[in-house]
Amino acid sequence: MTSRNHQLFERAQQTIPGGVNSPVRAFRAVGGTPRFITRAAGPYFWDADDKKYIDYIGSWGPMILGHSHPAVVAAVQAAAATGMSYGAPTEAEIEMAELLCACLPSLEMVRLVSSGTEATMSAIRLARGFTGRHAIVKFEGCYHGHADSLLVKAGSGLLTFGNPTSAGVPPEFAQHTRVLAYNDPTQLETLFAEQGNQLACVIIEPIAGNMNLIRPNPDYMQRLRALCDEYGVVLIFDEVMTGFRVGPQGAQGHYGIRPDLTTLGKIIGGGMPVGAFGGRADIMQAIAPLGSVYQAGTLSGNPVAVAAGLTTLKLLQAPGFYAQLSQQTQSLINGLQSLAGKYGIAFSADAVGGMFGLYFSAQIPTTLAAVQASDIARFNRFFHLMLDGGVYFAPSAYEAGFVSIQHDEAVIAQTLTLAEQAFATLAS
Ligand code: PLP
Repeated sequence: MTSRNHQLFERAQQTIPGGVNSPVRAFRAVGGTPRFITRAAGPYFWDADDKKYIDYIGSWGPMILGHSHPAVVAAVQAAAATGMSYGAPTEAEIEMAELLCACLPSLEMVRLVSSGTEATMSAIRLARGFTGRHAIVKFEGCYHGHADSLLVKAGSGLLTFGNPTSAGVPPEFAQHTRVLAYNDPTQLETLFAEQGNQLACVIIEPIAGNMNLIRPNPDYMQRLRALCDEYGVVLIFDEVMTGFRVGPQGAQGHYGIRPDLTTLGKIIGGGMPVGAFGGRADIMQAIAPLGSVYQAGTLSGNPVAVAAGLTTLKLLQAPGFYAQLSQQTQSLINGLQSLAGKYGIAFSADAVGGMFGLYFSAQIPTTLAAVQASDIARFNRFFHLMLDGGVYFAPSAYEAGFVSIQHDEAVIAQTLTLAEQAFATLAS
């Protein structure tokens, strides 16, 4: 037992519900004591017992440059020295908006917020205000933050309204949310045929990362775009996770689809609280102060957070950045795949850019049900064997993993050496 982590966890639980400020950090899915982190550098972080880990969560996505990148740290220090927050506009916010719009062609205008949840919540309100319709569509297994109308699962039938997945969400709030199975074209066609004219928006993770990594079928995505066009439904790509992660233009670049609105977070803050939503100018102009859809934030566009995000985004523009990131991620998953094969373990892996999925199933899943059918107990054992050896994968079989540009071949090789021991133990 890692004693100082254990002591901190005991102490934390006295004043923080479950000892954590976000549930997945509590290790409930995999069991055991969460590690309390004291510092981080490059691809590593250290816990309260000063044990070093190769970090494959990267703060759940943002740390694409690795931890404590000197240029990002310097930018944050410089910004903090000239004021933490003004509540009035700054030039850096314009620069950030211009860079986001230049990187993602579907963004004609963009507004900054402070989290992914705020981005998706605001985009949905905007879609409703713009269309004058109430109903929204989401997909089972996709996570868009914790706004009330998005904490919803499928109801009893396809065309019925959804049920809250959290206490505290009144059923009346969930009744405007329709929930479909991801990657199921028949359900999509049926819903649009019956209710297309009542739908304000569809929100989708265009490569899902909250039910492990699941890719949508390209034809399915094209059909979704076409149906939204036909019925005047706002198509929202939630790229909080995939934006600047799966490639320079996110999943929309990967699939060649132009959403009406995009939500961003994680990487665009470089580890600080920044989110954004943007897209078609005619829709974005419906937001206050131009339009009648209200949206605001005391710390929106915070100068210190924007300094971190802008510096990060500029560094991502380096030629060959994404080719290198993809190659490193591929080395990891190819290595894991072949080692699992050597020990006869039913295992598969997938990656897009710097985001990856590990599955204890022979085939790469394409549905939530397939992830649920994988060997979760085996994943949990693998997780702990790796953690003990000093590799920190996401503490749940339903989460994607993240590689930074600092995870070089030596770091990957070290991970694979440990993984071989873990697979051998699992096979014995
Ligand atoms: N959307 C997606 C796709 C996410 O993965 C997340 C968080 O993991 C969110 C939205 C919510 O972002 P935040 O945790 O910054 O509120």
